[in-house]
Amino acid sequence: MVEAPETDIAVVGAGIVGVACALQLARQGRKVLLIDRQAPGHGASYGNAGHLATEQVFPIADLSILKRLPRMLLDPMGPLRLDWKYLPKALPWFTRLLLNLRPAPFQRSVAGIRVLNKGSLGAWQRLLGSIGRSDLFKEDGSLLVYERPESREGLLALRARMQQQGVPVDLWSADEVNAAAPQLNPSMLGGLFFPRTGHFIDPYRVVSELFEAARACGVRFMRAEVSGGQLHTAGVSLTSDSGRIDARQVLISCGAHSAKLTTALTGKAVPLDTERGYHLMLPGEHERLPFAVTSLERKFIMTPMADGLRLAGTVEFAGLDAPPSMQRAWQLHRLSQGLFRQDLSTEGATPWMGFRPSLPDSLPVIDRVCDGRVLLAFGHQHLGLTQAAVTAQWVGDLAERPAGHQTAVYRLDRF
Ligand SMILES: Cc1cc2nc3c(=O)[nH]c(=O)nc-3n(C[C@H](O)[C@H](O)[C@H](O)COP(=O)(O)OP(=O)(O)OC[C@H]3O[C@@H](n4cnc5c(N)ncnc54)[C@H](O)[C@@H]3O)c2cc1C
Repeated sequence: MVEAPETDIAVVGAGIVGVACALQLARQGRKVLLIDRQAPGHGASYGNAGHLATEQVFPIADLSILKRLPRMLLDPMGPLRLDWKYLPKALPWFTRLLLNLRPAPFQRSVAGIRVLNKGSLGAWQRLLGSIGRSDLFKEDGSLLVYERPESREGLLALRARMQQQGVPVDLWSADEVNAAAPQLNPSMLGGLFFPRTGHFIDPYRVVSELFEAARACGVRFMRAEVSGGQLHTAGVSLTSDSGRIDARQVLISCGAHSAKLTTALTGKAVPLDTERGYHLMLPGEHERLPFAVTSLERKFIMTPMADGLRLAGTVEFAGLDAPPSMQRAWQLHRLSQGLFRQDLSTEGATPWMGFRPSLPDSLPVIDRVCDGRVLLAFGHQHLGLTQAAVTAQWVGDLAERPAGHQTAVYRLDRF
């Protein structure tokens, strides 16, 4: 016998996506139980680069990946790394990724990313404003710099592609870069400035503050690892290391770990993998940059945060179980050498690794399935922070009723 559930929605996964959704659902009057095996905000949402990356409207790969593949396998310190041992497991995912590079699916992904990104800035402003913490986000733009003359053509082509997609972008000369970011090495040749972007001064703090706001709205938190579950007429029963959890609906928002529970509840396999990423936090270096700066050639981002300068990036395909290779985080400091007038100090630096949740078409799953008993919000790849607030609004709508046809590209049954 399944007891009458006293929870309307069990939200499994308390990263930025799950916490933002829990708050949204509680504000809609739902009794929400938020579940995580760790304290909230300790997954990928803890250590990301904090960049509201609304300019990133293109899928995670394009055809140039084919040329780069051999290097990915051979250079353990390159910006892209594929662990040989993980290759057999990653092959089906890579095959789908390559199929998605064909013009029609590629354009579908661009359109899907654009819709989410377009609503992101406004959704974040409203969400942070609603909890009285607008100070956690700076709408100050971001800059992509280049250093080699031969990079200019590619930069201009990127600008043209972005403009075609309606992304606001300005071309900056070397003088403009120097004036705005005087601590960068004057050898920078220029860059692209994205005015409708910005950065969060502490991504973990953002999750924590939203979590506190959710608690104040009645969201209960339970620390438990959910291993599976079953649907029944009254809703859903989840199996966890703290016992059975009953609810009318469940939202799966476990980031890169969402596939197993999705399959257990819906019977559907989902091609979710992880692009592991790293950061190196430099506590003494708050003052170096006025906004987030990415290097076109060195392929990493530097974001000024409340606790220092965060160097972040790199993509590593090695799955969820292999231990982190922290030398990749330290490599970010080596990459930064020569980018500033004076090199950055590593005193007190801390390395970190996190799991980006990535689907081969670069779009998340945001859906309502199994007669509304299962909601899904995962797979936001490099853009989970950017898209979390808008995702929470959509999930709030989905909890009430099925979505219209315009959200078809985010559906689970596209796989
Ligand atoms: C280096 C790096 C830089 C990045 N930079 C940016 C950026 O600048 N801008 C941007 O928009 N995005 C960025 N991202 C991506 C972004 O961080 C992620 O897309 C986002 O954090 C995903 O959020 P999430 O809530 O889906 O997952 P997570 O934050 O990973 O949360 C998932 C939660 O689920 C829990 N969980 C998993 N399995 C279970 C289970 N079985 N039972 C109970 N709990 C479970 C985990 O403990 C975790 O707390 C970056 C990522 C990395 C790694």
